[in-house]
Amino acid sequence: MGVLIRGFGILLFLSACGVEEGQLGAPAGTNLPRERPGLVAGETEIAPDPTEELATPPTSRVPCEVGRCWLNAPEIRGACPDRPLGEDFSSGKYNVHRYPYVAPAGTSVEVTLEVTAGQWQPILIVADAADGITLFDGEVGLSGGAVQLETGATGRTGSLASVLVTAATETRLDLYVTSWETVDSGFTAALATEARYTLSTSAGCPPPTEICPMDPQSIDRLASGFFTAAESSDPLAPNYSPYKRDDRDSHSGYDLHAPMGIPVLATQDGVIVSATTVDASDCGRSVTLEIPSGVRFRYCHLDQVLVTSGEVVAGQVIGLNGATGNAHVSHVHFVYLESPALADTSSGEVKSRKVNQYIDDLCR
Ligand SMILES: [Zn+2]
Repeated sequence: MGVLIRGFGILLFLSACGVEEGQLGAPAGTNLPRERPGLVAGETEIAPDPTEELATPPTSRVPCEVGRCWLNAPEIRGACPDRPLGEDFSSGKYNVHRYPYVAPAGTSVEVTLEVTAGQWQPILIVADAADGITLFDGEVGLSGGAVQLETGATGRTGSLASVLVTAATETRLDLYVTSWETVDSGFTAALATEARYTLSTSAGCPPPTEICPMDPQSIDRLASGFFTAAESSDPLAPNYSPYKRDDRDSHSGYDLHAPMGIPVLATQDGVIVSATTVDASDCGRSVTLEIPSGVRFRYCHLDQVLVTSGEVVAGQVIGLNGATGNAHVSHVHFVYLESPALADTSSGEVKSRKVNQYIDDLCR
């Protein structure tokens, strides 16, 4: 059992920090309001009231009663996929940011605050949104009951602060982002306007069932599947491909251009039905993955084949990006083959439209 720190003046806390609740709800990752002057509508500043009778000393870490609290931060729902939220203290008006957070039921989620600019020690504080009780004060978490908080990094040293939140039932929490310098000053110290951070939630997401053949952030360029030789040889055409070196009328795969050696991933659960570990054809070193529907995916030009048979799961590394076979620059030529794959007689254009859709959905 950790130390339970009650914020002073719970009624004051509710009347101050809770009042904005109905105005929140922007999904994480979309049109996030920024803490910048003139850009945030309806933001509310809770300034310290020097005349207020305080029940406990101002070392309490329930921040909005004494700190300058930005209440209009977006709600975080622990949504999957996890998208780090970037924010800063650039307005100079606030020294605490509050994020309403819905902890999902029956799972553990790590909430991480990371400093991305400025020199400051980050601290995450977690309170129950319903009653304002502090459940995690940055160092000690409350255990037991419907929600458990376990300390990860305190942020006293290094640039990370984190806490593991485990909720038995869906629970509304408030996450507070501030600095240890601010906490130690009794919430009077300001954060530097250059202070920036990301706030993210992880774990608790089901594993993906379909993913891009590479980390999308590693992909330099996607060249779609279908185009004619004339189109692909025109440097001004959208489908220009300096890598097409044959006389065929169409290019029936999807080229994912990325640095040499980056991991190449199984896009879905399935079975590796064939693999070529010698570089002796246009396709070079390659792997063919069959998914339960019978559709097969072939990955060409790999520098190394890492799985040659057996079951794989979505996201598993099956090879490394390369330029073997008919390739002059490192890329994966990804082919979509209808069942039965090796007897697929559909036209190059039909195959190409399918692979275009498939990769566009997963990688863009
Ligand atoms: Zn290709």
